Amino acid sequence: MSKFRIQMARRQGERKAKEMGYDSFPVDPFAIAEAEDITIEPKKADQVGVSGGIIFHNDNVGIFYATNIKSEGFRRFTVAHELGHYFLEGHPEEILKIAPIHISKAGFSQGTNSIELEADHFASGLLMPSKLVGDVFGGSKVGLDAIVALSSLAECSLTASAIRAAECCDYPMAVIVSSGGNIAYAFMSESFKKLDKLAFLRKGSPLPTTTTLQFNKDAKNVAHSRTTCGETSLAQWFSCNRRLSLDEEVIGLGSYGYTLTVLSSEELAVDPDDNDQDEEEQLLDSWTPKFAHGR
Ligand SMILES: [Zn+2]
Repeated sequence: MSKFRIQMARRQGERKAKEMGYDSFPVDPFAIAEAEDITIEPKKADQVGVSGGIIFHNDNVGIFYATNIKSEGFRRFTVAHELGHYFLEGHPEEILKIAPIHISKAGFSQGTNSIELEADHFASGLLMPSKLVGDVFGGSKVGLDAIVALSSLAECSLTASAIRAAECCDYPMAVIVSSGGNIAYAFMSESFKKLDKLAFLRKGSPLPTTTTLQFNKDAKNVAHSRTTCGETSLAQWFSCNRRLSLDEEVIGLGSYGYTLTVLSSEELAVDPDDNDQDEEEQLLDSWTPKFAHGR
């Protein structure tokens, strides 16, 4: 699977949103499906982890999403993911090679399965086109407030919005999702990666002694979607040499059991070298889309 295909998938999502006339948030994947005569049905999940699927039957196409998904943002993402399988070149053929039905476990994208990853990126581009994301952020600092704003405008989960923010914004920021004492995954904006030689925050590695670790010690903080903030440093998280203090903003992701941390700093200017080209060149190495988080 190539970076190029992933980028194309995201671009095609963005293009589809534009083609359907969306020049402001929110993009409605249900309406797009309807315009294509695709039936959408809620379905009781009979398998753990199944978020939805797509069925190709002669000329008819149907999409379903699991009813145990309570989060509207996650439902919308699921439908957008299935639309990816419909719109992306080669996807229907790839699916039909195996069976007329494809079941997706969005949020748990199998790293080796390219069509799943491509569909996730299509969904991300469709629901949060970079132009519209840019309109929300402007040139200002992107912290938790901005991510919450994007999430509510785009009607997407906080984690999907946070990852998209790191992809689109010129401002140095890092997004870390954690559970208990461990890191689930991390995502950095291009300009953040350039701050110093940073250690890679591996899945499963222990959280450093930070506000986030303290926050996670009380499960109620996470379950009740509480927020907190503190001061931290680049070195504390990424064991690097540069001395740079950062704002650490933390929010519990509710029943899903994960915590979202956003690292940013008022002191950091927008990287003048950063441009669309850079944005297109990032991805994959640190990209592990896990959009399942409940909110
Ligand atoms: Zn899928």
